Amino acid sequence: MSATGAESGCRVDHTVNRWTGGYTAQIKVVNLGPSLSGWRLTWTYTGDQQVTSAWNATVTQTGGSVVAAAAGFNRALATGAAAEFGLQGTWRSTDPAPVDFALNGTPCGDGGTVPPTTPPPTTPPPTTPPSGADCAGAVICSDFEDQTGPAPSGAWQFTAPDCQGTGTASVDTAVAHSGSRSLRIDGEAGYCNHAFVASTADLSRTGPVIHVRMWVRHTTALPSAHVTFVSLPDASQGGRSLRVGGQNGALQWNRESDDATLPAQSPAGVALSRPLPTGSWQCLRFAIDTTAPGLDTWLGDEPVPGLHADGVPTQDIDQQWLSRTTPPRPTALRLGWESYGTGDDTLWFDDVTVGSAPVAC
Ligand code: CA
Repeated sequence: MSATGAESGCRVDHTVNRWTGGYTAQIKVVNLGPSLSGWRLTWTYTGDQQVTSAWNATVTQTGGSVVAAAAGFNRALATGAAAEFGLQGTWRSTDPAPVDFALNGTPCGDGGTVPPTTPPPTTPPPTTPPSGADCAGAVICSDFEDQTGPAPSGAWQFTAPDCQGTGTASVDTAVAHSGSRSLRIDGEAGYCNHAFVASTADLSRTGPVIHVRMWVRHTTALPSAHVTFVSLPDASQGGRSLRVGGQNGALQWNRESDDATLPAQSPAGVALSRPLPTGSWQCLRFAIDTTAPGLDTWLGDEPVPGLHADGVPTQDIDQQWLSRTTPPRPTALRLGWESYGTGDDTLWFDDVTVGSAPVAC
């Protein structure tokens, strides 16, 4: 039997209530295949829709690709049974019906309330293949040399997860750590002035420790106000982000769901972090444990003591961070700029790797 028909493995009823700039969607998926003990429904937005919240499923979005993972109570899906969940999102210029619904990878028909659409090719843009020993086994390994135009494309897609202002992202051929290309972010001050470029790579099975290495160069010292330049959608926070940025002039981690910071923003805590030097390429590395409390950060080859979390609460460092006991489960990587007040900056990223094994600077 062909796997291309709408009745091959699942059926989706997708009901949208939209208004200018926003929408809610109620999604019902019927399992027409074998019983499932857990499920993930995936689809693609071809417009600029962006999911902001969801209920009865954990929904994460990278570029136009969306993953809805079952909630604990609706994981089991027998043959013929249905699961329902909903979400809310934003859109700016276009919001065509989603396409390429698939249940655990098996294609469904497109949503029941919309006319049939010819789906675009389902093959995702290729992740840059490993190009050296550095990258063996890496899920993301990008020197941005495969970027062909001024706008990020292919394995890197522009996104503004919450809201967008005047910040921009581009491929810069004048500044690079390696080769002749890097990713450039012109980040602007002001609340909700967000501009990111997301890798299309799925990190949800990377680990148990996720190792991230990037070279970053920036222009303006980290401000007193809170800013973010690396954002990892985190399934353990319902898709909200684990964020790397700065506050009080020094690097910090921040957890979107409860706004916890690492280190604590006491003067003693801030002193245990480090500023991000301006005007030169810096090697920034993270190790994120997805199974236990554990987070480590290196600037160059030096561990940053204030950016270290472990199982033992330490005043001024990780006492507040450890108030949440569920380890993070990052699913994607976004590089960019998110300002919540003052602070603008121009940044470049190059030679980015993410995988289950450490990579040297
Ligand atoms: Ca490069």
